[in-house]
Amino acid sequence: MTFEDLNLIEPIRKALQQEGYTTPTPIQAEAIPIVTDGYDLLGCAQTGTGKTAAFSIPIIQKLYNQQQKERSRGIKALILTPTRELAIQIDESFEAYGRYANLRHAVIFGGVGQKPQTDVLQRGVDILIATPGRLLDLINQGYVSLKSLDFFVLDEADRMLDMGFIHDIKRILPLLPKKRQSLFFSATMPPEIEKLASTILYKPEKVEV
Ligand code: AMP
Repeated sequence: MTFEDLNLIEPIRKALQQEGYTTPTPIQAEAIPIVTDGYDLLGCAQTGTGKTAAFSIPIIQKLYNQQQKERSRGIKALILTPTRELAIQIDESFEAYGRYANLRHAVIFGGVGQKPQTDVLQRGVDILIATPGRLLDLINQGYVSLKSLDFFVLDEADRMLDMGFIHDIKRILPLLPKKRQSLFFSATMPPEIEKLASTILYKPEKVEV
C-alpha cells in the first residue's frame, strides 16, 4: 500500500511527498480510513509506530474538507498528551502534514509563561495540542472554549495515568461536546485504561500494532 491508495486530499499528498513519506506504517494504513469514515478509534500503539501521523493526517483531511464548505470559528480538534516534549512533536507534525491545508494549530503546556500561548489562542486556533494542567488553567481563565470541538484525541493514555493526570482528564471530559469523534491511544491496555476508554469512546474500531 502507498499513501496514494488512501484518497488523501492534494494539500496532504503534497506535504507527505515533501516529507519523503511513500508508504504508510501499519497503524496509519489501518487508522486513517477508520477516522476519515467517522468512527471512534481505540489504538494500541507505542511511540515510533507513526501514530502521530495516523491521527493528525485524517483530522487535517476532515477539517480541510469541512472548512471548504464553511469557515467556522472555535477550536475544532483537541489533542491531549502528557508531556511538553510530546506536545511539541505533535504540533510539529500538524505543521508538517498540514502546511498546505491552511489550518491554524497551537500548542500549550505548563512550566512556561502563559502570555505567548494566550496571544496565539486569541488570534484563533483550529487545532489545539495541550497538556492537561495548562489546558484546565486556560479554560478556567476563559481563554479556551471546547464547545465547538469536533475531534478529541487522548494520546498516551497509560502515561497520563502514570503521571497522575486522571483527575485533570476527568475535569476536562465533561467540557467536551457529546457529539464528537474521539481517538484514544495507549501503549498498554490494562483494565483501568479500558475503563477510561469506554467512558470516552462510542463504538470504537480497534487497531493494535
Ligand atoms: P510517531 O510514532 O508518530 O512518533 O512517529 C515516529 C517517526 O516516524 C516520526 O519521526 C515520523 O516523522 C516518522 N514517520 C511517521 N510516519 C512515517 C511514514 N509513513 N514514512 C516515513 N516516516 C514516518
